[in-house]
Amino acid sequence: MRTEVSRAESEKFHEECGVFGIYAPGSDVTQLTYYALYALQHRGQESAGIAVSDGKVIRCEKGVGLVAEVFQETEKLEQLQGKAAVGHVRYARSNEELLINAQPLLVRYRNGHLAIVHNGNLINRYRLRSQLERKGSIFQAGTDSEVLAHLIAHSGEDEIIRAIKKSLLYLRGAYTYIVMTPEKMVGIRDPYGIRPLSLGKMANGYVLSSETCAFDTVGAEFVRDIEPGELIIIDKNGLQSERFAPPKRQALCVFEYIYFARPDSNIHGRNVHLVRKRLGRRLAQEHPVEADMVTGVPDSSLSAASGVAEQLGLPYEMGFVKNRYIGRTFIQPSPEIRALGVQLKLNAVRQIVEGKRVVMVDDSIVRGTTSMRIVKMLRHAGAKEVHVLVTSPPVVAPCYYGINTPARDELIAARMGVEEIRRAIDADYLGFLSEEGMLECLNLSKDGFCTACFNGRYPIALDDFALDKERRG
Ligand code: SF4
Repeated sequence: MRTEVSRAESEKFHEECGVFGIYAPGSDVTQLTYYALYALQHRGQESAGIAVSDGKVIRCEKGVGLVAEVFQETEKLEQLQGKAAVGHVRYARSNEELLINAQPLLVRYRNGHLAIVHNGNLINRYRLRSQLERKGSIFQAGTDSEVLAHLIAHSGEDEIIRAIKKSLLYLRGAYTYIVMTPEKMVGIRDPYGIRPLSLGKMANGYVLSSETCAFDTVGAEFVRDIEPGELIIIDKNGLQSERFAPPKRQALCVFEYIYFARPDSNIHGRNVHLVRKRLGRRLAQEHPVEADMVTGVPDSSLSAASGVAEQLGLPYEMGFVKNRYIGRTFIQPSPEIRALGVQLKLNAVRQIVEGKRVVMVDDSIVRGTTSMRIVKMLRHAGAKEVHVLVTSPPVVAPCYYGINTPARDELIAARMGVEEIRRAIDADYLGFLSEEGMLECLNLSKDGFCTACFNGRYPIALDDFALDKERRG
């Protein structure tokens, strides 16, 4: 079993977690959470877990791997029966201990049991941890769930909602939490709403999820997104909404639309596939290249590529085939094997691209290494010209709000202008979507999103943890 993450440097940004919660007495909450985690698997593939409350006791099963791997023994699920459950999938940071950081975090404190799952990143995490350690707290893992658990234990409040609200006042950063006690479930979204959390309804209860695609999977109906700074309490009395902080400017991570979310999810009431198509159409308006066909890099760029093709009046073709059976654990090829031209994850289809002027659509360029490889692959398969169109602006700054990104000096657009990048990736043309064009497609004000990785304007000021991370890279 893997105990620690060690992976080849990833080209893409990665969402770090997916959370799910269900309060539905009379339903098989364990099975439904298990299915919901399948729907959220794209948000994290390195650990998974489910905690279930029967009204008195909370039990938890978690492990390293995909949902199917963690729960391959059905007895694990059968042992978990109750009326409410929380579930989690996680994408770990490099060199991180996997099992100890797997969630839900199950803790017992003087007022009982809590199970906590979260998505995001507290930018004052190290400061809070050191303050708590000085008061005697002992931390086992490196997660922000544990920070919240200790703050709750130290709050001095006996009533759990008061304890949570008091604890949240210390947190700075991007976060969604679901906290489950034996009797209640509490959904929390940070005052800027950087990470998503939606509310759904079932016949006999409610569900909370990072993405609405999980609602379709469990047969729940979308109600609304949780507001920034809102706390939702679900228990035998139904649903109650409270504020723990006044809403700041709304700053949802714009990458949810561009890349992270599943195309069948809706965010702010907008379907992700349709938004990506709109981004593609706008991209083609800004860069009306002459070509013979359009193809997208699977899977996240396919929706946008169809928009580019529509706008340019060109056929949309399957220029690449992706091998869907390569998991995170597969053995990375050595440089010698790579030099032989071994294509494991992606293959360009010669019969489709040979002799053609190809528009290749991608959602982002981070380090530039994948773009280089893909352009080379298309040329090797006989493409006459390769025009790269990107459905986001150049990424010039790292993320400190829970998205796994390389350090600033590894971001190709932080070091080079567009023409230099074009030459580096060996494209005939390179066009990025403008920030203005991107925001117009999303149809919200400029201040409605976090766009910091495109312009370095962070909605929540960074403190020394974030700056230290930047120095260390
Ligand atoms: S910095 Fe970029 S990836 Fe991070 S929350 Fe903001 S938009 Fe999303």
